[in-house]
Amino acid sequence: MEFYDAVVVGAGPAGSCAARELAAAGHRVLVLERQRQVAGEIFCAEGITDFWFKALGWEPEKAWISNHVENVRVYGPAGDYFHVHVGHVGFILERRVFDRDLAARAASAGAEFLLPARFTGAERTKDWVEAQFTYLGKPERVRARLIVGADGPASAVGKALGLEVDVPISDIHYTAQVLLSDQGISGEWLGLYAGSEIAPHGYAWLFTKRDGLANAGVGVADRKIRIDPLPYLEAFLTRYFPRGKRLSRLLSVVPTGGHRLKPYGDRVMLVGDAARLADPITGGGIGPALLSGTIAGQIGAKALSEDNLSAKRLSEYPKIYWSKADRRAYELSYALREAYFDFTDDDLNYLFGQLSPLFHWKSLQSVDSVYIGRMILSGAPGIAALAVKKGKNALFRYLKETLFGR
Ligand SMILES: Cc1cc2nc3c(=O)[nH]c(=O)nc-3n(C[C@H](O)[C@H](O)[C@H](O)COP(=O)(O)OP(=O)(O)OC[C@H]3O[C@@H](n4cnc5c(N)ncnc54)[C@H](O)[C@@H]3O)c2cc1C
Repeated sequence: MEFYDAVVVGAGPAGSCAARELAAAGHRVLVLERQRQVAGEIFCAEGITDFWFKALGWEPEKAWISNHVENVRVYGPAGDYFHVHVGHVGFILERRVFDRDLAARAASAGAEFLLPARFTGAERTKDWVEAQFTYLGKPERVRARLIVGADGPASAVGKALGLEVDVPISDIHYTAQVLLSDQGISGEWLGLYAGSEIAPHGYAWLFTKRDGLANAGVGVADRKIRIDPLPYLEAFLTRYFPRGKRLSRLLSVVPTGGHRLKPYGDRVMLVGDAARLADPITGGGIGPALLSGTIAGQIGAKALSEDNLSAKRLSEYPKIYWSKADRRAYELSYALREAYFDFTDDDLNYLFGQLSPLFHWKSLQSVDSVYIGRMILSGAPGIAALAVKKGKNALFRYLKETLFGR
């Protein structure tokens, strides 16, 4: 049986980043990917902010980017919008190019890739972990000193090795998306759309790639019941893009709530969506996947060199991750999501009415939460009153903590 230093399951951004770090440190690495090609199907709106590239110290490659984010239109439930200039805050990626480039970097560093190889189970002893998988339909197995689960929501790796992977319904965004062709789409702005008819407890998006072409979709949520996002996608597209042509249709989920999890154990680490690191409000998980994969890869590489793959040694990974990913911002976002479950369309219309005069055709000097919090509190104090009225006062806490800290 083949023996590796590390097996990485999943060749998304998290897996490729982890594999690259492990291989670059001289370890023998195998990546198992169940699809027939890296980035075969991509479930994503493809937006990413600069924050993550800065946290990683990376300069984004031109080929990764399909559009720059400078203007955003925010639509309220009634269908009116405010248009705000945000300056340069991030990009719309070309995820297929991006993911393949990350995999190519891992391969150049020495990682081996096996596709289509579906991980099916694992066995762990004190000396190794065995990854069981099917390759071209046949059962296979390899042993390694370390396994990294980068296999997305409800990680099979985590489940096989006894980590908590079942996601409570309230922590899930149910998503439906299309690649949308429509003459009316302007590459100059992105759209965010709220309201219970198109995206209950979530939002719909239009992330434009260029004039006439966008990644569009809905993310919906509920505290207790699983929701089918498709009728909402239909409602969104029919209302805003009745003549749009759909060039794809994909359903998926975004799991959140990773700040409460333990994404490691003896000889195992979970990264990216497998560790539920996407932002609770926006569902943004590309940056967390890159950062967690990179840090887990670095810690794993050191642990392999020291020949200490204990849970205690690997626990350094989430500590470093959360120090760089801003745990406080994540917790606030989680609390806001909780509050959002209690928002009615009337509340959203009220919020929209308050925010619209503050932001419409304004140019923000920054998208820093303190700057925006100050703008809201000084320009629309009624929002603080609404926040106090609502559930757990999370919105109020958000405003207070962004301004005054904890
Ligand atoms: C509709 C939608 C819109 C989104 N929009 C955004 C956005 O605009 N910005 C943003 O930052 N984030 C967004 N996200 C989240 C983002 O796409 C994910 O957080 C990100 O892809 C996570 O990367 P990952 O490497 O952890 O997982 P993935 O990219 O999901 O990669 C996991 C890989 O593991 C493979 N795999 C799974 N199971 C197995 C198995 N048993 N054996 C072998 N291989 C396996 C899969 O095939 C896949 O290639 C969105 C998500 C959705 C669903």
